[in-house]
Amino acid sequence: DRIRIRTALLSVSDKTGITELAQALIEQGVKLLSTGGTHKAIAAAGLAVTDVSEVTGFPEIMDGRVKTLHPTVHGGLLAIRDDAEHVAAMKEHGIEGIDLAVINLYPFEEVRAAGGDYPTTVENIDIGGPAMIRASAKNHAYVTTVTDPSDYPALIEALRSNDGQTVYAFRQKLAAKAYARTAAYDTAISNWFAEALDIEIPRYRTIGGVLKEEMRYGENPHQSAGFYVTGENRPGVATAKLLQGKQLSYNNINDTDGAFELIAEFSPEKAPACAIIKHANPCGVATGPSLKDAYLRALACDSTSAFGGIIAVNQLLDAETAEEIVKLFTEVIIAPEVSDEAQAIIAAKKNLRLLVTGGLPDPRSRGLTAKTVSGGLLVQTRDNGMVEDIDLRVVTKRAPTPTELEDMKFAFKVAKHVKSNAVVYAKNGQTAGIGAGQMSRIDSARIAGIKAEEAAKAMGWAEPMTKGSAVASEAFFPFADGLLSAIAAGATAVIQPGGSMRDDEVIAAADEHGVAMVFTGMRHFRH
Ligand code: 5GP
Repeated sequence: DRIRIRTALLSVSDKTGITELAQALIEQGVKLLSTGGTHKAIAAAGLAVTDVSEVTGFPEIMDGRVKTLHPTVHGGLLAIRDDAEHVAAMKEHGIEGIDLAVINLYPFEEVRAAGGDYPTTVENIDIGGPAMIRASAKNHAYVTTVTDPSDYPALIEALRSNDGQTVYAFRQKLAAKAYARTAAYDTAISNWFAEALDIEIPRYRTIGGVLKEEMRYGENPHQSAGFYVTGENRPGVATAKLLQGKQLSYNNINDTDGAFELIAEFSPEKAPACAIIKHANPCGVATGPSLKDAYLRALACDSTSAFGGIIAVNQLLDAETAEEIVKLFTEVIIAPEVSDEAQAIIAAKKNLRLLVTGGLPDPRSRGLTAKTVSGGLLVQTRDNGMVEDIDLRVVTKRAPTPTELEDMKFAFKVAKHVKSNAVVYAKNGQTAGIGAGQMSRIDSARIAGIKAEEAAKAMGWAEPMTKGSAVASEAFFPFADGLLSAIAAGATAVIQPGGSMRDDEVIAAADEHGVAMVFTGMRHFRH
């Protein structure tokens, strides 16, 4: 299972570490073949390398579109070394075996992420590279395939300790990695086309990504985990810069994403806004005259749960907000930007992770979400639905006051980001109570009411903020009971999609209590 490497083909766009690798290979007596730019880089370091055109007897043509797509190269990669016919074919056509392929691809993903224009992006679709990777990985019984510069040291070490040979298990592992690379590459290409064509449905795309980092563990310590990035051009946790603190955990990433997607619903032009998230559910969301106010108002909703939470803000994180945040144990802060002063304040908390995204994602933009089921992936378009004023239909005798209407819309936006069944009370642009993830809507309504009472106690308020609040339900009330529970908690206005068989009963109950209710016609299940 040991194969000596005699000839290697090096063809890389990312030239990181290539001359060091070339040097180490030469020390092991390996003959090097290379394509134009890679050849130049290796030769410039004063190392012996043969241009692949010399081997193929064919020049690079069409701006490099055709460089290695030649039987001499692919025969050399694919030949079964102990098959008499293959060996005879090699002899007949003057094909030399290639035992090592070191290839990384045209930077399609980077060009896409940088928003390259259409022709530039198309030109960055590598053809010969993936073909060679796939050929050599198929022939892993004989050929070693290296597609990632971070594997060079392991390769060099393997050769040095095995007298210039690689073992089967090593080649097999690299082959698995090679196909993961080409699969992710083609996924990025197909998704770029889907974006360019504005195709929403999954039919023309595939779900996949490139491993960005491995985590120490998954949702629980006995699970292993990795973070794959899809290359979608969207400010958020996948592309954010970690300014301080240790690597995010699996749960951190999940919760931080929830926090940032939620806060992006609140336009910074309208008001500063802050969300505090625990276990992917908000435990407080608020707008305010200042960001500091927004944070304090979000915190007031459920200061007990906020401990160890994740904070997202919709604009530049300033010093006075940072001063408040560091008073409480927080896991992660995510912000579009941060001021130098705020960053200095946060630096005092070494373990607090600070992520900066450079912008807010557009809540209306298209995209796909996926979750796994046993043996499959469920894929759907992102819930980019946003209720507009024009969609709202007053169904009760009493119409909401302008303040009630504002709070209704605020509560409904938050409810979209709460696990179903979701019931959210809001008053004056701040959540008053959040009931999440219950199996019955009435329980979510009750829990939100109880939480509001506890918040009033904790804050020393005379009454819970649910008194005189607006309440949102992310899906219709199937019975009047959930609504009655909300009214008992003090809600005077209700926003919900409507569409229940018993809408009449629910509307009658609202009318009986003089409550204003609007239907949105849009549901935001989140399971
Ligand atoms: P170099 O900088 O050495 O000129 O080019 C290296 C890049 O060319 C690598 O990313 C490799 O995947 C790619 N490549 C190698 N052969 C071919 C080919 O025949 N066609 C295309 N389009 N790309 C190739």
